[in-house]
Amino acid sequence: MLTLNRRCLLTSVAASATIAACAPSGDATPAEIEARSEAPGFYRFPFGEFQITMLCDGVFFLPTDSIATNVDAHERKAYFDAHYIAMDVFRLQANPLLIDTGEKRILVDTGVGPGKGWARYAGRLTKSLEEAGIVPETIDTIVLTHCHGDHVGGIASQTKLFPKAEIVLSDVELDLWTGADAASKLPEWAAPDAPNLRKVFAALGDRVRPIKPGADVVTGITTLDTSGHTQGHISLLVASGDEQLLITGDAVPSIHIAFDRPEWQIMWDHDRDKGAKTRRALLDRAVSDRLLVSGYHYPFPGIGRVVKEGVGYRWLPADWVWHR
Ligand SMILES: [Zn+2]
Repeated sequence: MLTLNRRCLLTSVAASATIAACAPSGDATPAEIEARSEAPGFYRFPFGEFQITMLCDGVFFLPTDSIATNVDAHERKAYFDAHYIAMDVFRLQANPLLIDTGEKRILVDTGVGPGKGWARYAGRLTKSLEEAGIVPETIDTIVLTHCHGDHVGGIASQTKLFPKAEIVLSDVELDLWTGADAASKLPEWAAPDAPNLRKVFAALGDRVRPIKPGADVVTGITTLDTSGHTQGHISLLVASGDEQLLITGDAVPSIHIAFDRPEWQIMWDHDRDKGAKTRRALLDRAVSDRLLVSGYHYPFPGIGRVVKEGVGYRWLPADWVWHR
């Protein structure tokens, strides 16, 4: 049984760091207690005949001046203040997910990858897979919604981690990053990633399966053309039994601005006008078809529904349900 000495009792209310410092001798070290204090990074739920596991890759930060780029400074500041968004950096979660159809295990997006200096609190996909009891060697397919570093990084930096997985992405997206004219098609900030991705896809060889948007990945999992964020961006519609799940990828990248003001532009959209049109069309579909929705950058586990509200939409997060 855990026993605390008098000093600990007096100070443990101050901060969790104090509790870690008060580990009784002979018990766990502060570092071990710290490690145990972290919840496993997955959330699993049944979905028709399938099973879906949301996986936490962690969080990372981006400069706030990259969002709402077409908005008056005063209106922008008022929105940020009202929604507790800092004016310098904003935080993004990264939520890859795994669909187990019973016959195939399909991973959608792969996180930022380990050891990225720009995302030191992310890159934990392999840890979350382990915590969820999923062995990388058992994954049959990886679908990439697009090839930005926070989605492709987990496979780009570890091409041997998923040795039997085929890699599915849209043919337009593959050509965008690996074609000889990549530099002229990509925005200036993205172009430097193209040479490395060309090498990565060459190393993956015939495991890469480019598809036309609209094609099925497997029965029950259909791709949707949601270009705008990138020229070859795809979202996924997953159907099993009476259930339908829309996996948005980065077509609807946040629960705040993208929902409240879909027309506010984002620097990370390669085509900002098209990105906004795609965003609204996808959210309209989620409302009219009453779809369950997942968002890659939404607060974990990033599952919920969408309702129309004002000039935009509102995110209704699903309850976290314990199934046993
Ligand atoms: Zn992203």
